[in-house]
Amino acid sequence: MIMNDSINPRVLIMIPYLSRDYLPFQISSQALCLSRICTELKQNRIMFEILNPNENSISKYSKAASLIIRLTDIISKNEKIAIDYLNGARDDSYLEGVLQKIAFNLPSLGATENIFYIQPCFKDNLYTYLCILKEIKKKYHNNIICCGTYFSIERVKKLRQYSFIDYIIDGNLFNSISRVLRGLGPRRNKSTTKINARIIMGRQETQDLNNEPMPNSLLLFRRPKIVPIDYATGCPFNCFFCDYKHFVPTFQLKNTSTLMKEIRFYRNKGIKYFWFHAAAINFREEYLRELCNVFIKNNFNCKWSAPLIPSRLEKSIFNLMHKAGCLHLRIGIESPDGDILDGFNKGVTLESIEETLRNSFYATIKKTLTLMVGLPMEKKTENIRKKRFIQRNMKYIDSITIYPFELRRGTAGLKIAHKLGLKVRKNTHNDNRYLEFDEVNGSKWEEFCERQQFLLHDLEAFLENNGIPHLLPEEYFIKLLRQHPRRIYEH
Ligand code: SF4
Repeated sequence: MIMNDSINPRVLIMIPYLSRDYLPFQISSQALCLSRICTELKQNRIMFEILNPNENSISKYSKAASLIIRLTDIISKNEKIAIDYLNGARDDSYLEGVLQKIAFNLPSLGATENIFYIQPCFKDNLYTYLCILKEIKKKYHNNIICCGTYFSIERVKKLRQYSFIDYIIDGNLFNSISRVLRGLGPRRNKSTTKINARIIMGRQETQDLNNEPMPNSLLLFRRPKIVPIDYATGCPFNCFFCDYKHFVPTFQLKNTSTLMKEIRFYRNKGIKYFWFHAAAINFREEYLRELCNVFIKNNFNCKWSAPLIPSRLEKSIFNLMHKAGCLHLRIGIESPDGDILDGFNKGVTLESIEETLRNSFYATIKKTLTLMVGLPMEKKTENIRKKRFIQRNMKYIDSITIYPFELRRGTAGLKIAHKLGLKVRKNTHNDNRYLEFDEVNGSKWEEFCERQQFLLHDLEAFLENNGIPHLLPEEYFIKLLRQHPRRIYEH
């Protein structure tokens, strides 16, 4: 792919369904990654625009945005029709109809001159954009199509089968697009990387988090209500079910002085709500204290949500967090079973969990707990223990998220699968991120799935009967903000 040097490239970043109201933090890692990409493009004075169906309803992209929403709707109901279309094996008149309309509107998307970039995110959105990109490439061969970064590791295999994608960026390389542009475009010179591989490896570790340019979310959303902030990358723990370490192997914490500058930047722009994105805010208790003191001393007067490990923490820290603006905590409990908690090796016990719930309650901090359901070897009666735990702590719990156990690639759990009594199978499903297994002395995969579904529905019904919201943490946080007096939520 050679770019004409006389063309000043413009990048059209196609964002899968992010809304300024809600999604900046639902997939905060994706939003932060895209913010970093925008920051990098801006620093390199490369023109870019954002195409986000939820944001573009009244812009020049409005026609394209509504077609993208329609296409996503079709694909989310039946992903196979998109896959068949991408493989050239589809004759679906409805899909063809929508795609023809999109093809007709391609010039308004700037398809004649742009570089297109999408970040694979949710499956239905990924296929929506791939269908559109196929149309673009069919009509305008000279456009450059890039796809990837960050959590795309598991999708690379899938993406490389589509020849209309010119560059697949595999990994957490934030300057990936600029790198492609520098390698191909008018800024190309002898010192810049010559890009000649289709797959660009970006699994590069961040050298020093404090020297990274601040990911500016305002480049992504004009007036976001809530901004995701990362105060760390990686995680010092290695819980057996979690694949975070696989994507981000090294743990780094940002200095509170760097964070202070970021928060001040957003506060000066009128942003009042922050979603701390990282593994847990209390990796080190003194860091958490320092952070809270920075918020109090600078009188930031904002509200935030953060993840917390329910290890033993002094009672005073919760009052300090409240004073610093902490409105909501996401507390990963996963299981009230002492043996399982011991296995996490995070200093979390049933006592420390219950103490955390009580102390945060008395500090008037709301919280969402996460509980994992359907672990290997669990019996159908396992929910009894979880229900007892919930009943005992009902007064202190605001909402619960339940999610099913998955045996993921790159996890400690996969390494010790045999010790857990699991025989890993070859995947037969579409999602490459997790693996199927049989329990050696227990259930076959199909029976395991059935048991897991039973446990999931049983616990959901229990929460409903007891009036406990089972919302995602971000949904609960939004609900919480809406309950606040209007003047706090509105700018
Ligand atoms: S679950 Fe949380 S604490 Fe455990 S390894 Fe993953 S990110 Fe770290």
